[in-house]
Amino acid sequence: MIRVLFAAGAKCWSEYELVLPEALAAKGLTVDLSRDHAPGTVDYIVTAPNGDVQDYRPYRCCKLVQNIWAGVENLTDNPTLTQPLARMVDPGLTRGMVEWVTGHVLRHHLGMDRHILGQDGIWRSEIPPLAADRPVTVLGLGALGSACAKTLSDLGFPVRGWARRDKEIPGVEVFSGHDGLDAVLRDAQIIVLLVPLTALTRHLLNAERLALLKRNTIILNPGRGPLIDDGALIAALDSHLGHATLDVFETEPLPADHPFWAHPKVTVTPHIASATRPATAATVIAENIRRGEAGQPFQHLVDRERGY
Ligand code: NDP
Repeated sequence: MIRVLFAAGAKCWSEYELVLPEALAAKGLTVDLSRDHAPGTVDYIVTAPNGDVQDYRPYRCCKLVQNIWAGVENLTDNPTLTQPLARMVDPGLTRGMVEWVTGHVLRHHLGMDRHILGQDGIWRSEIPPLAADRPVTVLGLGALGSACAKTLSDLGFPVRGWARRDKEIPGVEVFSGHDGLDAVLRDAQIIVLLVPLTALTRHLLNAERLALLKRNTIILNPGRGPLIDDGALIAALDSHLGHATLDVFETEPLPADHPFWAHPKVTVTPHIASATRPATAATVIAENIRRGEAGQPFQHLVDRERGY
């Protein structure tokens, strides 16, 4: 019998307790899935950064810790977690992010605020440019960034992307390295941040890099709050940037007295850009357990050196 400990918390359990057994059964696996197994007997742990297990040392037979979040920065810094760690790559999560990013890109591209917020009797007849005239840069070309970049390219935007390694994505001009970052920042009119939070990406957009951006550049951050230096962002908005739409923050929930709430060039969304969808994620979890039992390599393993 395979023992799976569901340690992602009570709220998540209510979302997974039906779909996960179904997904495991569909893979032909007979599993004892519970929120309460003796640590020494556990084969797999399904977890979340704010989950039930913080000390992973007693789980000495555990073959895999499967996170149900895409971001792993709150697990990679746990010194007790030495088991293989997989992050979540879920088609439902990806779809949600593509929709959030596309919606917010189109809001700024079409200048929708002028008409939604400006119902004041003034006939504003400025025609928006076509997407082809609006370069968009996507920082991070992983599961989420590459899907967003492809969709934006399909809509006609000239898309540049930046990743650690070179890669080919149809319709997307890919850059890497420090020089590549400066190049993709300089030309963009809209920038989307979808890199993970690591030691190398903290304050990726600092005062120096924000100074490279053109007048009226728009920033969308559905990645992680600390990717941007908050103080430098406010200074850059006050001097030359067009707008920042922020979904993630250094402290969440964003404190009620944080200057972002009242800033006229900031839109706050409360970490809702996307989320793991249990119906599709259950299949991803089950597939990794199937692989573990078949002696095959796990999918979506986190590289501890890289931090993602
Ligand atoms: P992936 O690990 O699939 O992709 C990460 C991308 O970032 C890769 O392209 C990687 O490059 C690039 N990258 C990482 N470090 C660097 C670096 N130092 N320099 C240049 N590029 C770098 O992650 P996902 O796409 O699945 O998720 C991205 C992030 O989105 C998550 O870490 C999480 O923080 C955030 N997120 C936010 C949500 C929300 O609701 N707001 C929901 C889900 C996720 P390479 O391809 O070369 O490895």
